[in-house]
Amino acid sequence: MQISENAANETAKIKNLKGFDANHPPDPKLIDSCVHCGFCLSTCPSYRVLGKEMDSPRGRIYLMDAINEGEIALNQASAQHFDSCLGCLACVTTCPSGVQYDKLISATRHQVERNYPRNWYDKLLRKLIFSLFPYPNILRVFLVPLFFYQRLGLQKLVRATGLLQLISPRLAAMDSILPEITLKSFQGNFPTIIPAQGEKRYRVGVILGCVQRLFFSPVNEATVRVLTANGCEVIIPKSQGCCAALPEHQGQTEQAKALARQMIDSFANTNVDYVIINAAGCGHTLKEYGHILENDPEYVEKAKQFAAKVRDIQEFLASIGLTTKLSSITEKPLTLVYQDACHLLHGQKISIQPRQLLRQIPNIKLKEPLDAALCCGSAGVYNMLQPEVAEELGAQKVQNLLNTGAELIASANPGCALQISKHLKAQGKNVEVMHPMELLDYAIRGEKLTL
Ligand code: SF4
Ligand code: SF4
Repeated sequence: MQISENAANETAKIKNLKGFDANHPPDPKLIDSCVHCGFCLSTCPSYRVLGKEMDSPRGRIYLMDAINEGEIALNQASAQHFDSCLGCLACVTTCPSGVQYDKLISATRHQVERNYPRNWYDKLLRKLIFSLFPYPNILRVFLVPLFFYQRLGLQKLVRATGLLQLISPRLAAMDSILPEITLKSFQGNFPTIIPAQGEKRYRVGVILGCVQRLFFSPVNEATVRVLTANGCEVIIPKSQGCCAALPEHQGQTEQAKALARQMIDSFANTNVDYVIINAAGCGHTLKEYGHILENDPEYVEKAKQFAAKVRDIQEFLASIGLTTKLSSITEKPLTLVYQDACHLLHGQKISIQPRQLLRQIPNIKLKEPLDAALCCGSAGVYNMLQPEVAEELGAQKVQNLLNTGAELIASANPGCALQISKHLKAQGKNVEVMHPMELLDYAIRGEKLTL
């Protein structure tokens, strides 16, 4: 592989110590499919912010190749360029040569987590994230002190002093996206079976998500109402846990596999036609179960069958068609902008369907923002682990959304909603972010929004 001058200069700085292990390193055939044209660079958010070849898709592919070849080491200098990747998959959409960067970065992340010794603080923070976020029941317990932290005004005090930012910018980043914890975060038990209204058209399973279930329970409630109103019987197995998106995106191989198996088991014998998800990042991972469990002889077939049934809620509704009447959700025309979540747009190629659904609501003027395909900086837990890059992307995204003149922002991913809400607040804007299902739910029920 030829290395550009820029890339060669940077790789030369990296000392040869230790590389990838033999367990699924990034596939050299996929690496060789990159022709180094550089088309992907302008659409890569990390390259836009950091401006270095090694923080671009092409640069990272050079690095993977050089580590595979034993020319450079997997050490702090090289690992940081993999860590700076948001995993937004914009490069996969852009690449004219069809380079499967998603598979390359996924293999690399698992290698990094196995073979790169992170410092104690990084390890601790990641441990905290991976022990809490994918387990809603544990996270719910952790929310109790956070509830009082907010209710007693301690959060305001901590933010006003800037203390957390001084101690740890990453903890400050976590605090800055923490939504208001309400009593709903501690409730949210759905019945296992919710009947369809009118004639039953489908029997569908619904996945509640982790962040969605705790912080955005109204989105799940709206999703269930929209489905049942449109002739779907909804099944919600109580044993369902996390979809594995977070550990999978961060290279936590065994944890991701265990969570995927649990999810498959929880839907076994439910006899559903489809499994519906309303969070972009989760949907992308659920569709990847066949790949995540490809080396598990007991589960690989079950995983493929499960993945074949997974549908994003918007993809599903657009394909079956709405049977309910929709009413205007505001007294006067509403200017709305839809924000594309990367794992819907790039990961699942879903962009037309949400717009089609939203346009069916009377009185809505749907706007398109500049750089619609650029990541907002949320990217799972990226905004907690790489707060500087995420800050810049979040501020840019919000500016572009506001420049459309929108009075309301629609977003189909909880992480994006948190990131955008944070930056709206930082820019002093009182604009709400809602999930398209909440808007459809209002339109079906004939209720008006108060903006
Ligand atoms: S666009 Fe594709 S082929 Fe071109 S540099 Fe990027 S990844 Fe490589
Ligand atoms: S996944 Fe996103 S951040 Fe990572 S290289 Fe591709 S475009 Fe850049």
